[in-house]
Amino acid sequence: MTNTIVKISPTDNVGIVCNAFGLPKGACVQDDILLVEAIPMGHKVALSAIQKGEAVLRYGQIIGYAIELIEKGAWVNEDKIILPQAPDLDSIPYSEEPQQEILPLEGYTFEGYRNPDGSVGTKNMLGITISVQCVAGITNYITNKIKQELLPKYPNVDDVVAFNHTYGCGIAINAPAAIIPIRTIKNIAQNPNFGGEIMVLGLGCEKLRPERLLPNEEKTDDNSVLYLQDEAFTGFEEMINGIMEVAEKHLKKLNARQRETCPASALVVGMQCGGSDAFSGITGNPVAGFASDLIVRAGGTVMFSEVTEVRDAIHLLVPRAVNAEVAQKLKNEMQWYDQYLDNGLVDRSANTTPGNKKGGLSNIVEKALGSIAKSGTSPIVDVIAPGEKVRKNGLHFAATPASDFVCGTLQLAAGMNMHIFITGRGTPYGLTMVPVIKVSSNSKLSNRWFDLIDFDAGPVAFGQKTIEEMGWELFHLILEVASGKKKVAADRLGIHNDLVLFNPGPLT
Ligand code: CA
Repeated sequence: MTNTIVKISPTDNVGIVCNAFGLPKGACVQDDILLVEAIPMGHKVALSAIQKGEAVLRYGQIIGYAIELIEKGAWVNEDKIILPQAPDLDSIPYSEEPQQEILPLEGYTFEGYRNPDGSVGTKNMLGITISVQCVAGITNYITNKIKQELLPKYPNVDDVVAFNHTYGCGIAINAPAAIIPIRTIKNIAQNPNFGGEIMVLGLGCEKLRPERLLPNEEKTDDNSVLYLQDEAFTGFEEMINGIMEVAEKHLKKLNARQRETCPASALVVGMQCGGSDAFSGITGNPVAGFASDLIVRAGGTVMFSEVTEVRDAIHLLVPRAVNAEVAQKLKNEMQWYDQYLDNGLVDRSANTTPGNKKGGLSNIVEKALGSIAKSGTSPIVDVIAPGEKVRKNGLHFAATPASDFVCGTLQLAAGMNMHIFITGRGTPYGLTMVPVIKVSSNSKLSNRWFDLIDFDAGPVAFGQKTIEEMGWELFHLILEVASGKKKVAADRLGIHNDLVLFNPGPLT
């Protein structure tokens, strides 16, 4: 294999080593650059000498400043560069210039479950929401019992899942930040894959009243809310029988749902990264970004998230807001998170893991510049705060922490019915509630994890396929998976992570 270096922007003074086993000292790249030391796969080589204090440029942006002279052909890693300041939110300009016109894409459909509220499911599941962790032992018992005894009778229902969170009591329910976990739990119960069949299990004495988790916040019938402390139940067995009876009523309704042809505009796709490497911004994320543009062109909804992974590229996103109000909302979410990190006595550099660095990402700036590629090029039509539902179609920024499980949880609350998860280092991430298409940024990973990765964007690094070609392939895969015609690895293998609630508020 030839020595392959990828340089994204003509102004970059570093390139990424693509060869699967890195390149040895003395290897020649770009005709005249000799490596002065061995450089691992995904890591940066200086394409020219970089003086002490000079900017290191990748994606045409400053990712850091050289701590000392870096020779041409040397390895540029986190030990040699210092982190620049984050973009100053107040000085990012916004002008309402005409946005890039969206070319409509028509004729693409998938087979989904239509819901009364107009949303469309990609799975058909019974979701059990809890209002407090105290009942989790019972929900675990119940979901097992439903799987064994009831699901075989309702073959049209894919699964049953309980959202066992740690919220509900021992919390400052009136703290301003309490709105985040409360609306998250409430909105997850309305995820399109639950078909509007809401079942809330509470204890009875908790601070978070189960009725608050219903769409209109009041109990409508006996099938929506159950309490374990209900005096109608004498002992465990009666309790279980009572819950099973209600669950069966919901299962009957869910079992009657049928897939029907729905336009691609009914897709609500959550994009997320986890275990990123230097290829994420070259292959996986731009491919996901191209697919994102196709979904938006088809009238669908896409959200990208992870505040700490967009914070350092926010100057590139603000100009893409459809209007000044959305631009301001973007800045407000960044501001909120800056404050949240401040309160915890850290800053955005707390993001980047040892694995990110091993994969060639020197710092959060480099990570963020690659991360935003998954947003494609469409205008940002709205910004939603943590736990809110999307209100319109088009590209959204859904503010969330970057933690995989917390981000996934908040995207589920936003109404996600398909999830794209891009990884470079590899993670077996999967969610029960929606199909998760795992995209690898490099073929070394997808070859090793051939049965865990759903889509390999690696060929882009070597020019074997273009971003456009692979973007279309991913778009078609999304429609196929959304239709239930193809199972993602996580569902085929039954490996699913727990959801994790974002609670920035105080406990009592
Ligand atoms: Ca993540």
